[in-house]
Amino acid sequence: MTLGGRSLLNFASNDYLGLAGDARLAEAAIAAVHTYGTGSTGSRLLSGQRPLHRELERAIADLKHTEDALVFSSGYLANVGTIAALVGAKDLILADQYNHSSLKTGAKLSGATVMDYPHNDMGVVRERLICDRSQYRRCLIVTDTVFSMDGDLCPLSELLDLADAFDSMVMVDDAHGMGVLGQRGSGSVEHLGCDGRPLIHMGTLSKALGSLGGYVAGAANLIDFLRNRAATWIYTTGLSPADTAAALAAIQIVHSEPDRRQRLQANGEYLRQGLATLDRDIPLEAAPGQSGSLDLKLLPSASPILCLQVKDAATVLAWGQALRDQGILVSAVRPPTTPTSRLRFTVMASHTPQQIDQLLAALQAIVRACHQLTVAS
Ligand SMILES: *Cc1c(COP(=O)(O)O)cnc(C)c1O
Repeated sequence: MTLGGRSLLNFASNDYLGLAGDARLAEAAIAAVHTYGTGSTGSRLLSGQRPLHRELERAIADLKHTEDALVFSSGYLANVGTIAALVGAKDLILADQYNHSSLKTGAKLSGATVMDYPHNDMGVVRERLICDRSQYRRCLIVTDTVFSMDGDLCPLSELLDLADAFDSMVMVDDAHGMGVLGQRGSGSVEHLGCDGRPLIHMGTLSKALGSLGGYVAGAANLIDFLRNRAATWIYTTGLSPADTAAALAAIQIVHSEPDRRQRLQANGEYLRQGLATLDRDIPLEAAPGQSGSLDLKLLPSASPILCLQVKDAATVLAWGQALRDQGILVSAVRPPTTPTSRLRFTVMASHTPQQIDQLLAALQAIVRACHQLTVAS
């Protein structure tokens, strides 16, 4: 990418498959503008519906193996509108503490009782269901599938078993799985072997699909219900023709070019290996009486999101800046967005191994310099 006239290596993008700059998406978007104009000009329920919207929804349902789907103007709106439509004051929401902001906002807005559970802790989910479920009308369990600031996955199969046993709904946010995970690229649910089980699939068109917008996919009666109840779909202008067409073109590429997913996976694995062995050649016990450790920790991940936890916010900012000075863009994430400070790297299908080597070499140099400072002091 180019920033302020400088060329930077981008390890901070959600464009996992490299489709945001693909000529076929651009051509589809331009053709849609010529056919339908720049704006959808109204709510889908009034004058805003175009044939492209239903085509995209059919394509999403087809990829996800669900009966139907509904596209929203953003993933954020899909989450807020869906949760607020499904549950209300008489209901219970069980939510992972690391859920995305849009899930938290939707939960708050719904008026339901919200109980956060410790990250991926199915023991606590079970306990809450046993103790509290019967006091509420409906129960919705909601979780990210790929956690956006950590990169790990939720234990979906176990969660679905619990939901089944306690008459509860499950809604998953697969923003970082769509187009990335699974044999056919349909996302985390496929990857985790849960295709066809009853659940509410949510995701975004704005990450691997290189466009803009969000979707919910699931049973036909769920989608019908949302068309009549989701305020963030009813009372807003339909997704623009250009964004709709670009997302549709992207889904076709997800089908026809599985090698993009394979390259993405290989790049993720390569960076993970490199990060895991980052400071292997640095003697951590160099200074007696001091740990000599920089408290580096590679967080567990099963996705193209990899996080290197560092000891504090000042360090993460300094390291982020040092990488930038060397022509590499990464995200420096720190509290309150996450409980601990970490460099967050995302790989893309279009990265080369040499580019990943460049990142690793720059990191190794920073770690080595910091370690020498620690030892010297
Ligand atoms: C990006 C993201 C969203 C929001 O999607 P947009 O389409 O950008 O509004 C929702 N959930 C998660 C987990 C995300 O990472």
